[in-house]
Amino acid sequence: MIDQEGALGQVSGRSPVSPAEAKLQVALACRIIAMFGHEDLTLGHASVRGPDGRTIYIKRKGKALREVLDRDVMPISLDEPDGHLAPGAHLETVMHTQAYLARGDVGAVIHTHPVHSIAVGATERGLAIISHDGLMFPDGVPIFDGTAGLVTSPDDGRAVARALGQGRAVLLRNHGILVVGEDIRWAVLAALTLERAARLQFVASALGDLVPIPRDTAGQLFGTKYTDSFTEEYWMAWCRQLTEEVGDLR
Ligand SMILES: [Zn+2]
Repeated sequence: MIDQEGALGQVSGRSPVSPAEAKLQVALACRIIAMFGHEDLTLGHASVRGPDGRTIYIKRKGKALREVLDRDVMPISLDEPDGHLAPGAHLETVMHTQAYLARGDVGAVIHTHPVHSIAVGATERGLAIISHDGLMFPDGVPIFDGTAGLVTSPDDGRAVARALGQGRAVLLRNHGILVVGEDIRWAVLAALTLERAARLQFVASALGDLVPIPRDTAGQLFGTKYTDSFTEEYWMAWCRQLTEEVGDLR
C-alpha cells in the first residue's frame, strides 16, 4: 500500500512490470490529479494497462481520488465483454476498456470532471490553443456530444473512443474529460495540462478576444515542450509533492 511503501519518488511511471506496480501507479495518479483540481466527490478514475497487455487496473468506486490506495485498484480483463460490470467497478469503467481496445498504443486512461474543462467543453468554440499548455493538443481537443449523461454502455464507450481518435484528450460535453497516455506519466500530464489550458482560456476570455497560436506553429512546438525526459521529471516532482502533502508515508 502507499502508506507502507514509502519513497514515492522512486515509483516508476513508465509501463508497469507487474500488477502490483500498476496498482501503485493508479493510486499515485489518483492522488496527484486530486491535488490539481480534478476531485469531484468520489467520482473520476484512472487506469493503467498491465504488463500482459490484456488486463487493466482501475480505481474502484467508493473512494475520493485523494484517498486511493493500491488496494482500491481492481483488475479488469479486456477479453471479458462484461468486465466493466464487475462488482465494485465505477459505472463509467467502459470508457476505459473501450479506449484500450481501440488504441493499442494507450497505456493509461483518466476520466474526471474538472471545472474549467467542463466549462470550455460546454461552449461552441471548445479549447483554443492560447498557451504552452494548449501546445500539448496541437490538433485541438475534440468534443463528444453523443450524450450529456453517464457513459455506461459499450456503444457509448466506443463512441467516446471514436471521438478521441488518435488524440490525447476528448472533452465530454457538459460532463468531463477523457485523456490517454503512453503510460501513466503522460496521462496525468494530459489531464493536468488540459485543465490548466482551460483555466487560462477562462482568464483570457474575461480580459478580451482570444489570440490563439496558429495550428501549424503549435504542431512544430509540441516536440520542444513535451518530451519523455520532461515528463519523467514532472512525474518525479508530482510524487515528491505528494509525499510532502501526505507526510511520512512509511
Ligand atoms: Zn463521469
